[in-house]
Amino acid sequence: MRDDDCIFCKIANGEIPAATVYEDADFRVILDLGPAAKGHALILPKSHYKDICEAEHAVAEKLFPLAARVGKAMKTKLQASGFNVVQNNGTSAGQTVFHLHVHVIPRYDDGPAMVTWTPGSAEPEELKSIAESLKAAI
Ligand code: 5GP
Ligand code: ZN
Repeated sequence: MRDDDCIFCKIANGEIPAATVYEDADFRVILDLGPAAKGHALILPKSHYKDICEAEHAVAEKLFPLAARVGKAMKTKLQASGFNVVQNNGTSAGQTVFHLHVHVIPRYDDGPAMVTWTPGSAEPEELKSIAESLKAAI
């Protein structure tokens, strides 16, 4: 299924050109136009899903193995020393293109800085209560 108004549908299906690093029946992997580091790649399913929650299981289950293949290639061919796998869902999470995609961002010992966050703190009782609430819904 594709969405005629979606730029990533057009890129994934070859209607708009992009620097493609991998393609199969389900996915196209392209280089990000605004790379966070040299070689920053995006895994795009060819079918349109707004986010990970909408994705069919058969597609979602292939994302991590493919991200690993892309990341390994970054280590062997770009001399990356590591990589981040990042996937944003919703505006508050930083999603700007509403077609499911996975970022694979190579990391180099001399930077730029890795994806990070500021650790907070939580009381054990709060963790327990949150865990119980989530457990009931998963
Ligand atoms: P998000 O913030 O939605 O997780 O990430 C969207 C990403 O897509 C951004 O990193 C942005 O640079 C990239 N991007 C947006 N439009 C295009 C495009 O037309 N071509 C390519 N190659 N990347 C794009
Ligand atoms: Zn789309």
